[in-house]
Amino acid sequence: MLYGKKVLVVGMARSGLSAAEFLWKRGADVKVSDRRSQQELDKEVGFLKERHISYEVGGHREESFASADLIVVSPGVPLRLPPLQEAIRAGKEVISEIELASRFLQGKVIGVTGSNGKTTTTSLIGEILKTAGFEVQVGGNIGVALTSLVDQSSPETMNVVELSSFQLEAIPTFRPNVAVALNLTPDHLDRYDSFEDYVQAKLNIFKNQTNSDFAVLNLEDQTLRKSLNVIRSKKFWFSTDNEVEQGTYFDGKDLVFRLADTREAVISSEAIRLPGKHNLENITAAITAARVVNAASAKIAQAVMRFGGVEHRLELVAEIEGVKFYNDSKATNTDATLKALEAFEAKIVLILGGRDKGSDFTVLSPLIKERVRQLILLGEASEKIRFQLSGIAPMLQAGHMEEAVRLAFKQAAKGDVVLLAPACASFDMFRDYEHRGRVFKESVERLRKG
Ligand code: ADP
Repeated sequence: MLYGKKVLVVGMARSGLSAAEFLWKRGADVKVSDRRSQQELDKEVGFLKERHISYEVGGHREESFASADLIVVSPGVPLRLPPLQEAIRAGKEVISEIELASRFLQGKVIGVTGSNGKTTTTSLIGEILKTAGFEVQVGGNIGVALTSLVDQSSPETMNVVELSSFQLEAIPTFRPNVAVALNLTPDHLDRYDSFEDYVQAKLNIFKNQTNSDFAVLNLEDQTLRKSLNVIRSKKFWFSTDNEVEQGTYFDGKDLVFRLADTREAVISSEAIRLPGKHNLENITAAITAARVVNAASAKIAQAVMRFGGVEHRLELVAEIEGVKFYNDSKATNTDATLKALEAFEAKIVLILGGRDKGSDFTVLSPLIKERVRQLILLGEASEKIRFQLSGIAPMLQAGHMEEAVRLAFKQAAKGDVVLLAPACASFDMFRDYEHRGRVFKESVERLRKG
């Protein structure tokens, strides 16, 4: 199917390189194209050279697109790129790395999408299914390209796959057996023309499903509720506010899985370690997905009890003189920051800012007014935030993370929380959100040592 085929891979990041290697191993005639320069792509080019895979850097050549039989797009590359649009118009097959992998992947696929909570929920489903004795692989947007999981997959494998909206574009046949949609709130409006376009991309997770597949849906998400007509698979729900007909809900004490008239209390909320109502939502989603593939409730409870969360997501870093420091560097949009603010009873000193993604920071106003003692602004978005949140809370400007942490500690009272939940991307000052989170943690550590 791939042998001898001329394939162009667009984008030289992790998924692109993995796709290129995957194709190369199967005898395709592969070329990888990236607009970044040779200097920026030193490591990547080295990887390709070792395998004698051809490449072009510093721009995309028209001829490479025109001569390809198949074009595979890395999720970092927008489909609206002119040469891709041209290729689509010319009737070429343009697919994503996820689609390529899914054509060869064996076993079942549980796909997880949403604006926030994907990594947490994907990891948790993976842990649950391992505990329940399944053969499990976890990948996708979580940092392991799906093409790299194909070789080890077998008909018994449960592939738990985190899917960003970008990975759900160009998927003509990708069909998860279970598709989990956590929530749909504004994000990435710098890459989509509108919120509707972004929602459309996310809803693609359901588009190839049939009535023998399953959808796991957030009952409280209005956007999702409005889009039910596109879902043909069997619907299961999760909610922390209301009882569901089929799926998992919170009854004020336990998380309960319901199927018709059978209700089973899977776990008591007191046994859960993750903070915040949003995490309770993630857990109800994970329980539902796991029950749908017949994981036993007792095993689910065991795994949920053990699960301590993922780094950089509301991660407790330290307590210094009665002030708790939380790293939520992964809060890269306003909704995640809202959830973080909601998760604490205590007063908060909030470190906010970074690279703006076209966000409306005024949505944070009511909660900031209610819970935030002091805002510490950091990075490129500072000016916009200062303007949009003017008069809502006292603000101080920090020049770098270390200063932000020191200022925050100075402003905090005993019993307060210092929270890094920036509502912005990190690329103005850091390599990525993980780097930002690490620098935050190091700064807290230095503060602790005095
Ligand atoms: P994703 O992979 O979708 O970015 P993560 O699990 O990495 O999701 O969490 C991203 C950010 O969103 C973190 O700041 C986290 O605390 C917050 N978050 C996690 N789950 C939810 C949820 N269900 N709703 C809103 N925010 C959430």
